[in-house]
Amino acid sequence: MKGILRGIFLAILFGSTSLSCKHNPKIKGDLLLTNVNIIDIQSGEIDYGQQVVIEGNRITHRLEGHEESDFEAIKTVNAGNKFLIPGLWDMHTHPDDPEVWRMQPPMEAKDRLLPLFVIHGVTGIRDMGGDLNLVKRWREQYSDGKLLAPKIFACGPLLDGPNPMWDGSAGIDGPEKVEQVVDSLMAEGIDFLKVYSLLPRDTYMALSRYANSLDFPFVGHVPFTVLPSEAANTGMKSQEHLLEILKECSAQIPDKLLKEIRGMKDGVQKSVAANNFRIGSYDAGQANALFGLFAEKEIWHCPTLSMWQKNAWFEEELKKDKELFAYLPKYLQAYWTPKYNDHLQNRDNQEYINVKKRLYQLYLEMVRDMHNKGVMLLAGTDMGANPLCFPGIGLHNELKTLVQAGLSPHEALKTATTHPVDFLEIEEDYGSVEVGKVADLVLLDKNPLDNIANLQYVFAVLRDGKFIGPKEIQEIKTSTKAVNAAGDWTEDELK
Ligand SMILES: [Zn+2]
Repeated sequence: MKGILRGIFLAILFGSTSLSCKHNPKIKGDLLLTNVNIIDIQSGEIDYGQQVVIEGNRITHRLEGHEESDFEAIKTVNAGNKFLIPGLWDMHTHPDDPEVWRMQPPMEAKDRLLPLFVIHGVTGIRDMGGDLNLVKRWREQYSDGKLLAPKIFACGPLLDGPNPMWDGSAGIDGPEKVEQVVDSLMAEGIDFLKVYSLLPRDTYMALSRYANSLDFPFVGHVPFTVLPSEAANTGMKSQEHLLEILKECSAQIPDKLLKEIRGMKDGVQKSVAANNFRIGSYDAGQANALFGLFAEKEIWHCPTLSMWQKNAWFEEELKKDKELFAYLPKYLQAYWTPKYNDHLQNRDNQEYINVKKRLYQLYLEMVRDMHNKGVMLLAGTDMGANPLCFPGIGLHNELKTLVQAGLSPHEALKTATTHPVDFLEIEEDYGSVEVGKVADLVLLDKNPLDNIANLQYVFAVLRDGKFIGPKEIQEIKTSTKAVNAAGDWTEDELK
């Protein structure tokens, strides 16, 4: 009786519907979270002291903390005023990077990368190139309960020119071959197409026409022979790594310098000279006009800033990240060293390293200007071959670099939650803590709106409604380290 009275009183006071709770049948669910502060990523507002009920993999109820509730949940977790956000997305990953195939990694070692995303709150990824069969295997193992994995959207092989840059790519022999290649990949169940740097101009144009005629998304590297504005005008849905923007927004290299550069024997020297000229003649006004076009055409950008940063400051960053290596399988530990890694060559050439650092500073400016122009940004790490882009934690780093570029923590959070969900057109099921949506959620000890670094305080993760608490997270960390240390790969195996 007392309870009902209190319910009526609160209903009047708060205009809530709590009264109905006592008269409705019991609310049943698999999991009840109490005392959660829910962050609405869209508005940046926080609803304090909420209760959330999950049944199966969906959120079925959300109630104010004061509402009288008559729950029957299999498991109840008092979240003690922790912060609940929708699961994070890493929009540029390669858990099976073709660039790393030369290390002959065992399949099971690649599998061990996937739980690392989830335990750091990354419940969804865009796989930007790798073996499609492996992606299918990961999805299967996940649904069979054998592997903790994020939700994966994948493109399979990279679409490159006749002599592709990396193993496993689909090298397209000419514009007339485009339809056949695209049709066969679509038949295999890819989610989107990814174009790559060496795609010749006429083949790229044929591909964009065909993909547009099918209304099928294509994304990727702006090829060397295409300008970012042309890629935008031909409907490339997302552009990666800020590639070719500098080329379009800097002065043409004058003939005299071009001749000098061509005469240089050393490729590193060539790239230093060309980049120094371009950085020096970068025209922010021209760039802003280009960014206006991106915004108008609704072209998304995934700048992968942390990848550029980790590379430019590799030695310093390595010291900070050293202990995280234990979570990586041995083949990747080896690949993230100058001994094997293409991205870590010529580290003793100070001029070359300085150019990388200057480029990164310029990229921060570009991202700030893009954001101010209303270009939609996606958070992505390029996890895979690129050193120190860790699965899971790497995404936290990416959001820090976006804040460094000038986004607020709230805006940075959007690039890993609501933006990916809009981009993937799955907003009915993901991107917020709302009734009816899939329970891919992250419970944080501290508020990430106050400081983006608070993402490191993951208390628990929900993946398809399954609660992965502190104990489970610790178990996964410990066992991953142990299996990696025992090792299922040695350098001797390399032929
Ligand atoms: Zn990539």
